Amino acid sequence: MNTLRPALGIFGGTFDPVHYGHTQPVIVAARQAAVQSVAMLPCHIPVHKAHAPSASRHRLAMLKLAIEQYPQLYTDEREIHSDTPSYTIHTLRALRKEYPKHPLCFFIGMDSLHSLMSWNEWQALFEYCHFVVCCRPGSKKPLSEELTHLLSQRQVSTNNALHNALNGKIFLADTPELAISSSEIRQRIKEKQPTDGMLDPKVRRYIETHKLYQLSTTF
Ligand code: ATP
Repeated sequence: MNTLRPALGIFGGTFDPVHYGHTQPVIVAARQAAVQSVAMLPCHIPVHKAHAPSASRHRLAMLKLAIEQYPQLYTDEREIHSDTPSYTIHTLRALRKEYPKHPLCFFIGMDSLHSLMSWNEWQALFEYCHFVVCCRPGSKKPLSEELTHLLSQRQVSTNNALHNALNGKIFLADTPELAISSSEIRQRIKEKQPTDGMLDPKVRRYIETHKLYQLSTTF
């Protein structure tokens, strides 16, 4: 008998700014993975990024505007209110303590799966969570030998497998491919170009009101 509790979804990102390439694939992937709710987890100091992120309060405010219409999405503010770099492994250890009987499903884009081996203690991540992977244009490149091996050991094709174990599996969701990135949006805003169809108009208005991304030189 399955004594596990309902799975918890987590979707980490810099969200600088949040866009439809974040919200839409994760909603579809959560449905396919049968995960009822997903915590959007903005990081405070991103470990993988070259650019200095916008102030945490702005990224969080934009994220809240972008998800207010989706009852299945909510924010988890533990990383953004921390003053140390955001390592996923630390957050997952904390979540596992809080939720010892809930499968944890960490959502990522396909580009992040390709670079997973560069994450801090990446192998240990599987002791805490499953990964649910969203499609992302430009990420259909050949798999590395290491990733092929990882998938041969961990990939599952049904969502049942995610709900029957606390951690350790990879589920490749079939999500819409949206060619949108925060860096392109920052560039377009700096150049005063439209961003229609890329992000929520409320987020664009917030960016204009607070004059974000107008002077940044790194994207
Ligand atoms: P940047 O352009 O600044 O690098 P980004 O658009 O990649 O940012 P992040 O906040 O760094 O956004 O991404 C957080 C997560 O969202 C990552 O797992 C990433 O793979 C995923 N993601 C971002 N954009 C997309 C997209 N268009 N489709 C699918 N997944 C995405």
